[in-house]
Formats: sequence, structure tokens, C-alpha cells
Amino acid sequence: MQEHAKSKNLIKGFSGDEWEIVIGMEVHAQVASNAKLFSGSSTAFGGEPNSHVSLVDAAMPGMLPVINAECVAQAIRSGLGLNAQINLRSVFDRKNYFYPDLPQGYQISQYKQPIVGEGVVEIDVDGEAIPVGIERLHLEQDAGKSIHDMHPDQTYVDLNRSGVALMEIVSKPDLRSARQAQAFISKLRSILRYLGTCDGDMEKGNLRADVNVSVRKPGAPFGTRCEIKNVNSIRFIGQAVEVEARRQIEIVENGGTIDQETRLFDAVKGETRSMRSKEEAHDYRYFPDPDLLPLEFTQDYVDKLQKSLPELPDAKRARFVGDYGLSAYDADVLTAERENAEFFEAVAKGRDGKTAANWVINDLFGRLNKEGKDVGHSPVSTEQLGAILDLIANGTISGKIAKDLFEIVWSEGGDPAEIVDKRGMKQVTDTGAIEKAVDDIIAANPKQVESAQANPKALGWFVGQVMKTTGGKASPGVVNDILKRKLGL
Ligand code: ADP
Ligand code: MG
Repeated sequence: MQEHAKSKNLIKGFSGDEWEIVIGMEVHAQVASNAKLFSGSSTAFGGEPNSHVSLVDAAMPGMLPVINAECVAQAIRSGLGLNAQINLRSVFDRKNYFYPDLPQGYQISQYKQPIVGEGVVEIDVDGEAIPVGIERLHLEQDAGKSIHDMHPDQTYVDLNRSGVALMEIVSKPDLRSARQAQAFISKLRSILRYLGTCDGDMEKGNLRADVNVSVRKPGAPFGTRCEIKNVNSIRFIGQAVEVEARRQIEIVENGGTIDQETRLFDAVKGETRSMRSKEEAHDYRYFPDPDLLPLEFTQDYVDKLQKSLPELPDAKRARFVGDYGLSAYDADVLTAERENAEFFEAVAKGRDGKTAANWVINDLFGRLNKEGKDVGHSPVSTEQLGAILDLIANGTISGKIAKDLFEIVWSEGGDPAEIVDKRGMKQVTDTGAIEKAVDDIIAANPKQVESAQANPKALGWFVGQVMKTTGGKASPGVVNDILKRKLGL
């Protein structure tokens, strides 16, 4: 079973040999916090260049960093959400390198002793649950930004991001396909958003991934990896893995070897390009930052944070399957975003779960997607959608009329029951009216009567005709009963 599951992921090389892709990711997640990691300046997105810069962020001589306790709490929450070991003592190190947007000349990061150790995240691809190991999560500062396109021969530096807290989350090399890599980043994003520890907005760059890719023959030791830097969308992560794996397979099949290097993904050309040969840890001359004490907190503190965590996607998904009888797929769709799950639960409470799921996923999400809206801006509220479902359940309207009613509520608002009353949308259960319609249709269509009597499947045509003459308001159950009786079926 395990072997079969794995063999699905093999890809054919140019020579016809089969290859396995091995992927590990280093994800940079911006900590959701109003202030930076070691200063009080704002982390707000889109400010005037250099408007959110304190003396610490600008690395003025003699300025001392002061740890932001909220960022520490966020890292611990994230670690707990990744089922990971929380280290009660960790150490900040200086990672030394020169870059114009790094005025300190070093980044404060964590190296040998990170705040969070090993954990595990479960992903689901094609119904198969795959555990993905987490190596570590550590806290570090972001750098500033060099702006090259304002002036043809000058570069500007914007330090607004300088000192913003990042969590670097490193996975083990446990991923085996582009789709698994995509599922991993989606799951990670979902967990962090549930926790409220990272907004996960990849377009704004507050979640970005370095994707390490190597290839090997099945069962062989790991091959040499290349690291593709800063891939900033889920779609690009999939593409980058595929083109990089192809590139490596072609080299190895032609008798070459892979150089360990850092590469860039070019989405326009659909290729990866060499940026620089891989730097080693010793190149950075890591050493403990003498300006900062080791970071220490108690198990009590961790336990308190643990107790305050919300229900996370996996638990919610399992509960939706158990409590509402949903398929794993529907439960997955509904729990990917916390707001979506909460919307669904408000609608499903005290109602049929599967019907609620169908309406929320197909009608509501479908419509929201079309208009590029999220559930927080839905024109149809949980109360309104719930009221529509109640009108179907108690037989007031048919499922078909309910779609029209949904459209009206979507565009005009209002109380669904009142709309049904005012616009005469009630289902016709008055058998007299339906019988009259049936009699008329039978009288006018002797040929169809014959064929329905020969083949009861042709009954559908009659149902359609009755619906048409009653404006879709006849109760389908009543129509069926009357038709069968009158046609002698
Ligand atoms: P470094 O610190 O030098 O970047 P790490 O050991 O931290 O190296 O690994 C970085 C990332 O590379 C991790 O996500 C890990 O899973 C991944 N990785 C390690 N070896 C391989 C490999 N052979 N193929 C693909 N990914 C790998
Ligand atoms: Mg690394």
C-alpha cells in the first residue's frame, strides 16, 4: 500500500527511467504583530518609505534591541499548531552578511537553539494522509528593501520592513511531488491563519517559500539539492518543482552532476536560473548576540497559550465529517479558512448538515468566487441562508424556487420568508390545481401518454410540463403522485 502510494509519484525521465522528486521547504511567515521583533515601530503594510523606522531598525550605534513578547507568544502558538516541541530556552544569534538593505551588517536570527523544534503537519493528497516532518521554527528579523526602479542609476533603500518579525519554518525532506509541496504550503497557511499568527497573504509577501528540490532513483540515497528562493504563490511552487526536477533529471541522465546552488524561479520563462553557489553556515559566522539574553519562559506559560488555541483545521475537519456526515472533501473545502467554517456551522446548526454544505459550497462560495468576494463580505448572511433552507425543509418552496430566492436575497437583501409571501413563490401543494394541470397536459398529448405507459421513465417529460405551467411552483412529490395515478403507472 505504502509502496503503491509512493510509486504514483514517480516521473519518467528522458531515457525512460523512473525518478523520484524529493522536496523540503523553508517557509518565511511574517508574524502577525503590530510592532517589530526588537522595536516598537509599526509593521503596517504600504506606508511611505522609511516612515516606520526606529533607531533600532536603522541600526544606529548604541541602540539596543528589546524583544517583543507578543512575537514570542505568536511563535509558541505556531509551534503548538505544528504539533512541535517548544523549547523553554532558545538563543538569538547574529547571522553576518553585508547588504545595503541590512544596516546592522547582520540579521538577528536563531541558529543552533531555535524556539521550536521538531513537529509534524499532516497533508491530504488524493485522499491519502501524508505526515510531513517539521525540522524547526525559529524567529528572525526581516531586512529592508532595495528599490532599483525609481531612478535609472540610483538605488534607494526602504527600511520599513527592517526588523519585522519572521518565523522561518523548515520542513524535513518528506515531500515527493509538486502537488504535495502545494498541499504543504496550503496546510501551513491554513494553520497559521487559524491561529492568527500570520496573515498568510502571499501576494503581500508575508508568506514565502524557499523550495529545496533534488531527484533520485527510487530507493537510492538523496541526491544533491538546489534551493529555489522566494517562491511567492502556490501555483508557482508547483511549477518551480516540476521544471527544476526536469532540469536535474536531464543533467544526471546525460552523465552530469548537480551543483548545490541557490536558484531563482522565472515564472514568465517557466525556468529556474542560477543565482549563486550555495553558501554554508560557516560563511555567516553565526555567534550568540551579546545584546540579547537567551530567551526563557516557563512550561506554565506554554500551557496557558495551548489552552487558548482555537480548534485547528484537522480537528475541525474530523468533527465536520463526524457531526454533519460530510464527505472528507467537503469538510476539507469548508475548513480551509476559519471564516468559511464558521459561516457553515452557523447555517448548519439545527439543520441538515449535508444540505447546508451543498448550499454553502456550491451556491454561496460559487457565487462569492465569481465576484471575487470572501465570506466576510457575503451579501447573504448566515441567517438569510438558514431561512432559505428552512423554507425548503418545511415544504414552502421547492429546491428550484430556492435558487431564485437565493438570487433575490443576494442582489436585493430582505427576509426570505417575506419575499416568498410577497412574490407568491410558495410551492403549490393544492392538489386541485395540480390535477387540473395534469389533466390538461394528458388530454393534449396522447402520444406522450402512450410512451409513458410503455416506459415509465418517460414520466419525467410530464413532470417538466407540469412544472412549466405552474411556474416551477408545483411540489415535485405531489406532481409525481398525481401523474402516476392518472397514467395508471
Ligand atoms: P541549510 O540550512 O543549509 O539550508 P538544511 O539542512 O536546513 O540546510 O535544509 C534546508 C532544507 O532543505 C530543509 O527544508 C530540508 O528538508 C531540505 N533538504 C535537505 N536535503 C534535501 C534533499 N536532498 N533534497 C531536497 N530537499 C532537501
Ligand atoms: Mg536553511
